[in-house]
This record gives sequence, structure tokens and C-alpha cells, in this order.
Amino acid sequence: MPRQSIKQKRSPELMWGLGLDDTLVHQIEEGVGPGFHIQNFPTDALPLEKDIFREEKPTAAWIPWSVWSDFPEYKKAEYRDQDTTQRILIQNEQDTPLEMDKVLAEGFLTVVSMPLTRPKIQDVLFRAKEVTSMYSDIYRMTEEILLERELLARKTDQLMFLNKVLASATESLDASTILANAKDTLGLVLPIKMLHAAFWNHQPNSDVADVEIFLNGAMPPETESEWVENIMGSANFMGSGPVNGFNIFHTDSARRPEYALTPTQGKLVTMPLTAGHETFGCLSLLCEPGYRLGKDQVETFRSAVNHIGLALRNALTFKEVQRRADHDGLTRLFNRHTFEERLVYEIKRRRRYNHDLSLLMVDLDHFKQINDSYGHKAGDLVLQKIGDILTTSFRTTDLAARYGGEEFVVLLPHTSEEAAWKLAERVRSIIEACNFHFDGHDFTITASIGVASVEGGALTTNDDLVIKADKALYQAKNNGRNMVVVSGQKTTDRDRSAMQ
Ligand code: GH3
Ligand code: MG
Ligand code: MG
Repeated sequence: MPRQSIKQKRSPELMWGLGLDDTLVHQIEEGVGPGFHIQNFPTDALPLEKDIFREEKPTAAWIPWSVWSDFPEYKKAEYRDQDTTQRILIQNEQDTPLEMDKVLAEGFLTVVSMPLTRPKIQDVLFRAKEVTSMYSDIYRMTEEILLERELLARKTDQLMFLNKVLASATESLDASTILANAKDTLGLVLPIKMLHAAFWNHQPNSDVADVEIFLNGAMPPETESEWVENIMGSANFMGSGPVNGFNIFHTDSARRPEYALTPTQGKLVTMPLTAGHETFGCLSLLCEPGYRLGKDQVETFRSAVNHIGLALRNALTFKEVQRRADHDGLTRLFNRHTFEERLVYEIKRRRRYNHDLSLLMVDLDHFKQINDSYGHKAGDLVLQKIGDILTTSFRTTDLAARYGGEEFVVLLPHTSEEAAWKLAERVRSIIEACNFHFDGHDFTITASIGVASVEGGALTTNDDLVIKADKALYQAKNNGRNMVVVSGQKTTDRDRSAMQ
């Protein structure tokens, strides 16, 4: 292909002449050479508004002083406003030479005097072009500055958003509150209809996970199971591994069940929650469909979710630390400290509302023999099993705790002596019926239980109940073990049965 044909043909640059006579037009055209095209407007047909505002602006406009000085002020102003065009003033030999200040004030780049020689023309045109190119540089730089400013404004918005997310995520150490706040703050950039979350936690030395699911609010059972299935699917996809079981919590208790949406009623975005290299949960966001985030917004959104993830991680760790502080490590029951705090609280409450309050004190019989015969580990296994039995045998409002070694207590608010005795009897027989296998040995164990109660308006100190239950337990031990003894009332049938 010949070189010529690929070269882009440049059209001549436009220049204006305002009221130039033919000689001047000719001289200028001669002087500037073939790269330019001059469009001359006679004095009686000067450029109209449509010419002035035309897309193609002239590089230079040649205007004789005699023409310019006759222009009305508003017309001069119109020309001056064309700042991409350099105006060149032409003075006749007879004109009084103008001071440069005046030339500039009139809005001209420069002035040339007749006769117009070729070097003069080329010189002013060269300057005109230089100034134009400076103008266009400045124009481009201004545009860049404006763009930068816009980007900065966007970044500021994003930082403010992140700041809000961070502040609201670290406001609380409760996962439900953090999630409710996250829905509000993330909602500032993405229209979120519902926000759910799942966290998985592996027990020590186990690859089976327990999962906690936080749903946005109460919902009809079929919607809830749709969500649970969806979220468990995401959890599995994100590396929860095999799951032991899950618990469901609801973050927004005010949300009415009928407002719940299914996973298909919007655009579902699922994001992993990570801390370090570990993924410990996921967020499920149900959003308005058809809404798109810009690339930088996606980045910001990701860091917002990371912040929220860390805050949630802290909340979960805090909960675990609290659980460990309140619980006994071996049996997973509450510890003695928690029991004593709760006892004080329940006795205070009982004084105010006069309801019944009972206490069981459970001590394993000849437990030392288990340790001695089968080893300490066998003893631990028994204690763990007793922990499970006590956990599953009582209501959540009751409190079962490990009081010491092989001694347990169960605090039963709103429970009469008679009901407490029945519960104690049931637990005693469950323990008695339990078969243990350890290291090739089969064995059973029994327990003695002391029951004490305060009924109706009877006054009691904090220690009374424990002392009474302990005395009853002592009696049970003395009377042959594997039995329940109720403190105080020795005349009732059940005491007789216990004392037999
Ligand atoms: P009694 O029927 O009179 O209650 O006899 P006992 O053997 O159960 O009572 P004793 O108080 O003589 O012994 C309690 C034993 O419990 C002694 C102690 O080594 C054991 N023990 C305490 N805590 C633990 C524990 O965490 N694990 C194991 N394996 N044994 C424990
Ligand atoms: Mg014992
Ligand atoms: Mg004991």
C-alpha cells in the first residue's frame, strides 16, 4: 500500500477575516501558506451568532482597526468570549499606533501594522498558534483537575461510608446487633432487603462443625427452611465441612413474618466472612434486582464486609470467652461461680414474687472407686455423661452446675418441693440405669440427691438453701446412698420412701 494513502489528509485550518479588503486577504493567504483557509466576512455581513457558535473555531481572526473601532461594545464582547480564537489587529500606516496595553485590553493577542510582509504574518500566526496550544494545555489540565476532584469526592464518600460501617460494627459485642447495624450501613450503598449470616465453629480435635444461623427476622416455617437450606449450602460451599447441627437466631425481632422474602425474591449476594486465612462464616444479602455497583464501589463494599467480619469474629470470640468463664470445661455445665450468682438473683426474685424455689444437690456414690479401678479418664467420662444427663433433664430456666469434683447442683425456680423431689427421683434413676464402657470395662454408677425448697413466703438467706440441701444429701449418704432425701419435712410419704 503506498505510504501516501495511509497518511490522513489534513483539511486546511480555518481563519477569519473581518472586513478585510481583497488585497489584505490575498496578502494573508500568501503569507500563511497552503495549510490555512481564510473566510472573510465583509463589513456589512459580519459573523452572526450562528457563525460564532459554530463547532469549528477559527485559529485566528484578522481584524483591521478601522473595522474593530466601529463595532458596538456588545459585538466586541461576543468576539472576546471566543477564547480559542486569537484575534490579530491590523493597523493602517495612517492609524495612530496603539499602545500594547490598549491592544490587550481590546482582547487582541497582538497588533501588526501595514504593510503586511510575509515574515510579519508568519510571526503573528506562529504566536497565535503557540497561545492556542497553551490554552488547550491549560484546558486539558483543568479538565484533569476537575476529574481528580470528582474522584477525590468519591473517595471521601467511600471513606465516610467505611467509617460509618466500622463505627457501627464496633459499637457492640453482640452478633445480632452487629448484623442489624450492618444491614443499615451496607444499605447505604446497596439496596438490601434482607441480611442473614451463618457462622461455623469446629469443636477442638474435630472436623465436624456447629453452625449458628442468624436470620433477618421471624418468618413462616416454609420460608425459614428455604433460607436455612440456602445458607447451609453456602456454608458448605465456603468450607464449613460436615455439620453436626445448627441453631437459628433472629436478628430483627420487630420484623413481621409476613414481610419475609424467599431467596428468589431479589438478587442474592453471598460473601465469605474471613479472619486471617480462615473463613468462619458468610453473609447472605438479598438485594433489589438490577442494581449494579461501580468497580471502586465493589472494592469498598468488600472492605466494609471485611470490617464487619472482624467485628463479628470479635463478638463470637467474646461470647466463647464468656461461655468459658461461666462454664465448667469438662462437663460443659455452668460452674460454681455462675451458680452462686444465680442463686443470689433467684432468692431476691423469690422474695419479691413469693414463688417456690428448689435446689437439688447431687453427689456420685463411691466415685473414687471408679478412678481407682478404671483410671482417672474413666472418671472424667462419667462426669461428662452426668453433665449431659443434667443438661437434657431440665428446663432452660433451670440452672444445672458443677459444684465441685463429683458434686452437682440444680437450681429450680418456680418449682415446689414435691415437683423437685419427682425430678430428683427421675434423674437418680436415669443415672442408675446408665451403662458405661471404658477400656474394656463395663460399669454403672449411682447418685445420692438432697432436695431443699423454700415455698411461699418463707424467708431464707442465700446460704440456707444450700445448707439444707447439703444436710439432706448427707442423710441420703448415711442411709445407704442411691436415694433422694428431701430436707425438713420428714412426715410426708415421699420422705418415708426416701428414708427407707
Ligand atoms: P461418696 O459416695 O461418699 O461420695 O464417695 P466418693 O468416692 O464419691 O467421694 P470422695 O469425696 O471420697 O471422692 C470423690 C472423688 O472424686 C475424689 C476425686 O479424686 C474425684 N474427682 C474429683 N474431681 C474429679 C475429676 O474432675 N475427674 C475425676 N476423674 N475424678 C475427680
Ligand atoms: Mg461422692
Ligand atoms: Mg463428694
